[in-house]
Amino acid sequence: MTTSIKYEQGGCQCGAVRYRTTDRPIRAMACHCVTCKLRTGAPYGVGVYFEEKDVEFIQGEMSVYEFASDTSGRWIRNEFCHHCSTTLSWTLEMRPGLRAMAGGTFDNPDWYRIESHIWTRSARSDMCYPDGMAVHERALIG
Ligand SMILES: [Zn+2]
Ligand SMILES: [Zn+2]
Repeated sequence: MTTSIKYEQGGCQCGAVRYRTTDRPIRAMACHCVTCKLRTGAPYGVGVYFEEKDVEFIQGEMSVYEFASDTSGRWIRNEFCHHCSTTLSWTLEMRPGLRAMAGGTFDNPDWYRIESHIWTRSARSDMCYPDGMAVHERALIG
């Protein structure tokens, strides 16, 4: 990642849950899969992936919703504020040791760079992508 800022903070809509990240993300992706649409209620979700040790939850309580991926069948665990229901984070059986933070929950929306758009086969038909953006019809593995 090309970012010079190392520590970032974010939180949920009501402010009860706050977190900080202590190192740069592994990657950041915009995902148009159905799971991300339903998690966010938006046309696509942005996942910023960190080593689990690089995310610290500072305050607040989260609830967990676990379900099976409709493509892989493996578990996904969404973690959300039990008061306002903002989903802040999720972990995946497919990516052990990594934790995704919801891109929209950072105080500063611009500090990470979205590297790719994935699962675009289920994207809205009027979706436009920035020039030079990597666009993948399915998942990006690795
Ligand atoms: Zn909240
Ligand atoms: Zn997705």
